Amino acid sequence: MENQEQLFFWFMAVWVGIGLIGIWLFQFSKDIERKQRLIRPFIIGTGILFAGFSLYMMRSLDGALFIIPAVGLVTWRNLRNMKICGSCGKFLNNAAIWTKMEYCSKCGASLSDTNPKSMLH
Ligand SMILES: [Zn+2]
Repeated sequence: MENQEQLFFWFMAVWVGIGLIGIWLFQFSKDIERKQRLIRPFIIGTGILFAGFSLYMMRSLDGALFIIPAVGLVTWRNLRNMKICGSCGKFLNNAAIWTKMEYCSKCGASLSDTNPKSMLH
């Protein structure tokens, strides 16, 4: 059982670390292009990590049947609703699941015309 507790400790430690990296990358950084490039891999990566850790700790098929769809759903939601404004660089997290964000809540720039800046690259 001690092993399990240690694992849980590491899980929490890694999670806090990822959270801090996320805050630094997406809230404080001014590099809009990098933020836009990293947001999707970051969301998918944390989803996979979370699912992997949970499955490793539970080691049960029932757990997998619950965790995989749950993490998949959250990851899908995050990919859909978390955006970086191409104009001001603000990290936007849409709390409403079924409505799509169309404008930046900070500067009002349109989010639908997939950022002309990043299309050049
Ligand atoms: Zn904006």
